[in-house]
Amino acid sequence: MEELRVQRLPLSTRAEAEHEKARFEEALGKTRTELLALASRLGDLIEGRQLIDAHILLVDDPILKRDVHRRISEGMLNAEYAVSQVLSEVIERFESMKDPYTRERSADVRDVGRRIINQLVGAEKEALMKLDMPVVIVARELDPSVTAGLRKDQVLGFATDEGGSTSHTAILARSLGIPAVVALREAAETVQPRQMVIVDGIHGRVIIDPEPDEILYYTELGKRYREAQAALARKSDTPVATSDGRPVELAANIEFSQEAEAAKNCGARGIGLFRTEFLRLLTPDADDEEVQYKAYSHVVKTLAPYPVIIRTLDLGGDKFLGTPGLHERNPFLGYRAIRICLDRPEIFKRQLRAIMRASADGDARLLIPLVSEVSQVVATRGLLAGISADLTSDGIPHNPHMPVGIMVETPAAAIGIDLFLPHVDFVSIGTNDLTQYTLAVDRGSPYVARLFDSMHPAVLRQIASVVQACHEAGKWAGVCGQMAAEPLSVPLLLGMGVDELSVSLSQIPDIREMIGIIDTSMARDLAGRALELPSASEVRSLVRTAIAGRFPGILIDGDGAGG
Ligand code: PEP
Ligand code: MG
Repeated sequence: MEELRVQRLPLSTRAEAEHEKARFEEALGKTRTELLALASRLGDLIEGRQLIDAHILLVDDPILKRDVHRRISEGMLNAEYAVSQVLSEVIERFESMKDPYTRERSADVRDVGRRIINQLVGAEKEALMKLDMPVVIVARELDPSVTAGLRKDQVLGFATDEGGSTSHTAILARSLGIPAVVALREAAETVQPRQMVIVDGIHGRVIIDPEPDEILYYTELGKRYREAQAALARKSDTPVATSDGRPVELAANIEFSQEAEAAKNCGARGIGLFRTEFLRLLTPDADDEEVQYKAYSHVVKTLAPYPVIIRTLDLGGDKFLGTPGLHERNPFLGYRAIRICLDRPEIFKRQLRAIMRASADGDARLLIPLVSEVSQVVATRGLLAGISADLTSDGIPHNPHMPVGIMVETPAAAIGIDLFLPHVDFVSIGTNDLTQYTLAVDRGSPYVARLFDSMHPAVLRQIASVVQACHEAGKWAGVCGQMAAEPLSVPLLLGMGVDELSVSLSQIPDIREMIGIIDTSMARDLAGRALELPSASEVRSLVRTAIAGRFPGILIDGDGAGG
């Protein structure tokens, strides 16, 4: 069962098997408590109650317990794997039954299995947050909420089977500066605990049991990479401009308010994207207006007088809410971002109010993600108008004219940009999602990762026409997706007239360097020619040839997700 697939970790001693049995027992107990809490929340929703009672019976089933114990000790397997094996067999048996009632019960078994495994994996996640020595993590998948809590001094690198270069786990690796490679498909099965591995985030490779000459080579490569980065970082005071002197706004993408100082120090001229959902994923009381206000205000004050673009919650997709009963087949096409916020006005209004209050402390701007309907912008503006009126009557300072923009990250917003422009002050193009939705390529799937390319002509053409439409309407257009941080795409974006590039902190030095070697007419020429090319690979070779020899090769060779 795909949902119950977990990592198989063979055990070597009896003591390990006993430990796994104890973990399983503990997970059963926690699952039971979770179900009881859910039952009391459901109250008199009779149907839901009956379902939960059936699930509790399954958790208490002595046969389940016996079979999992047996699987652990006879197969010498970790608890997650034993549970998934036992339950997958039960599901298979149920599904092959003629009786429709029994067949349907397989959904209950799957649900309970998912809960038990989540408890087991959850305990693993906690352990990851409390590492006592530096390690490389190799996993099937690392949830963004776990990745966000990793510490650079403890995690030397990580490698995952799932994900793509723009999945939020990879984005976080860049912002934390942790080398990472994603979309490996079978590393978790292949790499054994305590085996030596090298994570080459530059080229997107993982080397297991490296030879001595490989260790030497990678030690040298790591050193050169750090030196190149440090040399570029030393230029942080120089104004960012093309070689013919056209100034370019280079801003930072941040996920945590604590990154504000580093953003300022590395020469970012503002924050082009503050992904606020990570505050919520990591801080238990982040629904509180005051907690949010403090985080936003800190960033706004630190970066003043430069702008700080605060994006409203973009939960859903690969950043799960853990909402009971919400199992979507296509989460990226489902309950996500502004769709959730408008559905939960009590939560949304607290965030809007916090952002509006922060607008009194500097140049705060508000950005709405995943917009696909003009009505979503109109509704958000309506809420903001009400909040502004409340703040005024309560005498709370704020900027009633705080700029409001949208992320252009659906083809609906890109193709229909003229419909949105009358309602917005600026746009920021989210090329990660725009690429995903234009090419119909899940940004988190390792199986289609090779098809994900923001240099695809269909994506380039949308960016060019959005920027042109914005400029004709006298409005500003930035790019905050990962494409802005790819040195090879910088000449194209500047050639299309993009006003701002916003990238992870670790990529600011490279991009500043890249901007400095481009002159405006070359960029225009390259962009014009790229728009006529039939494929992303031809666009890449066009730019590669044009900038050959002018830019440190080490920074443009890679296609990995490393930071
Ligand atoms: C994007 O989609 O390009 C973007 C910047 O937003 P996120 O990566 O957080 O979805
Ligand atoms: Mg996005």
